Amino acid sequence: MSISSVIGHKKNIKFLLKTIRKDEISHSYIFEGSSGIGKKKVALEISKYILCKNATDDSCNICKSCVEFNTLNHSDFMLIEAEGNSIKNEKIEEFQEFIHIKPNENDKKIVVIDNSELMTISAQNRILKILEEPPKYALIILITARKSSLVQTIVSRCQSINFNNLLDEEINEFLINNGVDFEKSRIFSKFSNGSIVLARKLIDNDNFMNLRDKVMELSNILIYKKKCELFDMLKNFEDLKNNQYEILNLLEIWFRDLLLLSLFDDEKVLFNIDKVDILKKQSKTIEINKLVQCLEFISSSRNKLEKYVNYALVLEDLFLKIQEV
Ligand SMILES: [Zn+2]
Repeated sequence: MSISSVIGHKKNIKFLLKTIRKDEISHSYIFEGSSGIGKKKVALEISKYILCKNATDDSCNICKSCVEFNTLNHSDFMLIEAEGNSIKNEKIEEFQEFIHIKPNENDKKIVVIDNSELMTISAQNRILKILEEPPKYALIILITARKSSLVQTIVSRCQSINFNNLLDEEINEFLINNGVDFEKSRIFSKFSNGSIVLARKLIDNDNFMNLRDKVMELSNILIYKKKCELFDMLKNFEDLKNNQYEILNLLEIWFRDLLLLSLFDDEKVLFNIDKVDILKKQSKTIEINKLVQCLEFISSSRNKLEKYVNYALVLEDLFLKIQEV
């Protein structure tokens, strides 16, 4: 893997490479952006590039440094990750020791802290001490989805780089390169919400397409008010308790598609892009204000589930409300 294998984030990468080549790289950065979009990947590839002995436009991947880096076994590089829901204080102690010993083979020593918002306040204060007077060879990259969870004094010491969610086309390309067929890639890239991690989960989840088909079937029963079939369907969905949140998400996205189609008549904005014909038919049957109400019902059902209201009751209530709207 190398910098050229990173999906998206071209502008940030270009900026970082430029500062590296001009020898103007800062001591500390915050990479901020949603989870699963590739911030860590960029941090790792940039670190490898800096440490590479034969770097040209990209890391060489064959020098001793690159080989050690690829096995995360590089004496001048440290990656700190959360264990469970926190970054352990011992890791920060290791970091303090690590950063104060001069580099072994390079003129840089690099530490990347993933999910850095999971550091305790005391850990953050320790990091702050290093950021206040970093050794001249130090490069520290803090990765976070929520910069606001870091203490303000850390934020003000670092240069922030904002990472955007990936574009549908970028995810699509990633999926096709990973052997997903064209039709599925188009659908998954819409459902991934700019996140490679989510896209990978969808690839691995055989159940996803089946679940989506069931939700589509349900939408027909709800929108065309097929009362007799509703209770069979309810029974069917009650057995899918383990997928309760996925079901609500898929139903919400389906109704969102109907609403967007009614409002803008633009197929490009749809998630269920392979089901345009069905969506178009349904959208002619239900009025815009009713679609808005249905979306509110779905959202309130999700809130109820989060408050541990019984799943079967929530479902029955939701289906009846949508059918009677
Ligand atoms: Zn190399």
